[in-house]
Amino acid sequence: MSSCSRPFNFSAGPSVMPLAVLEQIENDLLSWQGQGLSVMEMSHRSDEFMHICQQAENDLRCLLAIPEHFKILFMQGGGTGANAAIPLNLSQTGTVDMLITGHWSAHSKQEAEKYARVHTVFSGQANHYRDIAPIEQWQFSKGAAYLHVCSNETVHGVALTQLPDLTALGINIPLVVDCSSDIASRAIDWNLVGVAFAGAQKNLGPAGLTVIVVREDLLGRALPICPSIFNFELLAKHHSMYNTPPTWSIYVAGLVFKWSLAQRDGELSGLAAIEARNQRKASLLYSTIEQSNFYYSQVDKNVRSKMNVPFFLKKTALTPTFLQQASQQGLIQLAGHKALGGVRASLYNAMPESGVQQLADFMQQFERSYA
Ligand SMILES: *Cc1c(COP(=O)(O)O)cnc(C)c1O
Repeated sequence: MSSCSRPFNFSAGPSVMPLAVLEQIENDLLSWQGQGLSVMEMSHRSDEFMHICQQAENDLRCLLAIPEHFKILFMQGGGTGANAAIPLNLSQTGTVDMLITGHWSAHSKQEAEKYARVHTVFSGQANHYRDIAPIEQWQFSKGAAYLHVCSNETVHGVALTQLPDLTALGINIPLVVDCSSDIASRAIDWNLVGVAFAGAQKNLGPAGLTVIVVREDLLGRALPICPSIFNFELLAKHHSMYNTPPTWSIYVAGLVFKWSLAQRDGELSGLAAIEARNQRKASLLYSTIEQSNFYYSQVDKNVRSKMNVPFFLKKTALTPTFLQQASQQGLIQLAGHKALGGVRASLYNAMPESGVQQLADFMQQFERSYA
């Protein structure tokens, strides 16, 4: 299939990859850099792979401006595995605080409850996860080991516009951030963060890799029952090679990091260029929704996600027709999550602006036909 016949893929994850990265993989698949073997076939202890892995780590550090006192770990288990790994590594006081803003933080809470007492500082559930109370209204517990937040709720399309500054509130516990669906979409203020984690399959590459960025002073606190492959200290000591890491996913993610670093937007480069483009993509889609009398978003304007945009047709019965016609026009994977229905467009880094423009054009044309 030629690249020009590829549709625009709005999947929430696994999701669209940069075409240039797929082409590079195709080129190197049978013989990486003329070595006569695929990266898939290399020992994780070989000089070649160790170099690939180190380069990926360096490039991610550079892309996200991760300070030296944070370790970058390449793990498996996905965001769901991290939901267990976090309390197993950090809940030594027995209590953890959590901000519940949608499907994924609710899921994280369920998992954490296996290992710790979970105290909810705020839950958006009663209001169907359409808004987030300001930090002044969050109810912190005494003696929690950390606060867990999800910076971008992939299902409900709710995002924290900025990470909470706990120190400014006089709360001296680490912040844990599930940034699975918005990592590398915008800058992170590492001064506010203890641990950030993300499954790779949204913005970073193929499924199978989980990235953990952990502040060094938080290592060495794991509960005795913590499985070795989830033990952050052990993984850091072995440079993510305590056991066989997800080598192929690390290699491909490394190519995505290089692609990300090379992005340009006017004067901007790397993450700043990506962030500017993401801002325009989200603005275009939200303004298309706002300007119509046909589509609507349920999410409070102050907390709308720039990565995942769930929206609905006022004439609900037309949703299947909308999705079918969109698909026929090369705009695919737009069905909303089963928990919400409707439509969801995921606008990850690798979704070009032209894809969002085509979606906006299609939405207007559909509205004219069916309003
Ligand atoms: C996708 C996602 C997860 C779960 O990831 P898995 O890799 O499927 O376990 C967790 N949190 C958020 C915010 C996600 O978007």
